[in-house]
Amino acid sequence: MKGSLEAPGATIGVIERYREHLPVTEATPVFTLSEGSTPLVHSPRLSAIVGRGCRVYLKYEGLNPTGSFKDRGMTVAVSKAAESGAHLVICASTGNTSAAAAAYAARAGIKCAVFLPCGKIAMGKLAQAFVHGAVVIAIEGNFDQCLKLVREMATEPGISIVNSVNPYRLEGQKTAAFEVIDALGDAPHLHVLPVGNAGNTTAYWRGYLEYHRLNRATRLPRMLGFEAAGAAPIYYDRVVEYPETAASAIRIGNPASWKMATAAFRESGGAIEIITDEEIFAAQSWLASKEGLFVEPASAAPIAGLFKCRSQTPCAGCPIQKIPDDAVIVCTLTGHGLKDTAAVLNERVKPLAALPEKAAILSILDKAK
Ligand SMILES: *Cc1c(COP(=O)(O)O)cnc(C)c1O
Repeated sequence: MKGSLEAPGATIGVIERYREHLPVTEATPVFTLSEGSTPLVHSPRLSAIVGRGCRVYLKYEGLNPTGSFKDRGMTVAVSKAAESGAHLVICASTGNTSAAAAAYAARAGIKCAVFLPCGKIAMGKLAQAFVHGAVVIAIEGNFDQCLKLVREMATEPGISIVNSVNPYRLEGQKTAAFEVIDALGDAPHLHVLPVGNAGNTTAYWRGYLEYHRLNRATRLPRMLGFEAAGAAPIYYDRVVEYPETAASAIRIGNPASWKMATAAFRESGGAIEIITDEEIFAAQSWLASKEGLFVEPASAAPIAGLFKCRSQTPCAGCPIQKIPDDAVIVCTLTGHGLKDTAAVLNERVKPLAALPEKAAILSILDKAK
């Protein structure tokens, strides 16, 4: 069965939009949910905070069909799995990979099994895996142990692993860099993103390099990545056995794309830095209340990072010091805030109780800031 590629009027997905740059042929059945083409939102307030005439744009990947950038890679990985005749796709996941795998596998009519670290998954993401019909297996262990298990299982015939160790994932994800250049007319001077398995960093860098080689861009951005302080293997240059952060999408202790991402930071003249959970939550709340964009905690890391770059205590050698005045900065907002509402709803956040009377309401509104 073919995907929706030929349907007139349907928004095209990343495979059709960037076919010539992707490892697909006429023989590849395309399974798409019209992913990609996400908005690049200008942030006047962040631009003012960075200063020096810089313009900050936010690539809002939470608007992909399953609510994260993972859809870009998954359309390619699942289409290629179908082409190879796979009967089962599997992945280890901190949540968003499993949501995307389950949705695209449903679309392709292939069985999907997801391996999640026991009790460490945001509820919205877990609901997605279930509702799309995946077999959901909770492993007593962390993400890194789940990934090791999945790699062992993928040696069986007919089973396709759709984690970012699958090269098609990164190929699909690089299309986000193409979209940024297509939208801005050139590459930004600085690209900031959260780092978990570091696949997205690797994919953006690859996309920027490819378009640069094709003369679609006159420059390459410096890549600036942020790991959570309790899960920062690349920053500290050692495996973290028990990674800890409330930003579950980047709770990774042994990143799959470690070497490639390190090369991207080095070659681009960028850096990998860390950010605390406190800073992440402050940035998440700031972004939602000041700019109207609700992202999951991991996605707020680049915003927290920009604040840190502009604070009294920026990191040594921060690449933001090296970009010119009037530079263009892009931050990737990797996932939607609705995936993890527990991260923001706690005892302190509840509606104000009131009688259904106008005077009572007016007095409440008066007191509210
Ligand atoms: C997967 C994911 C990340 C981390 O991306 P990597 O490619 O693993 O570095 C960050 N944020 C969200 C929302 C994610 O789903």
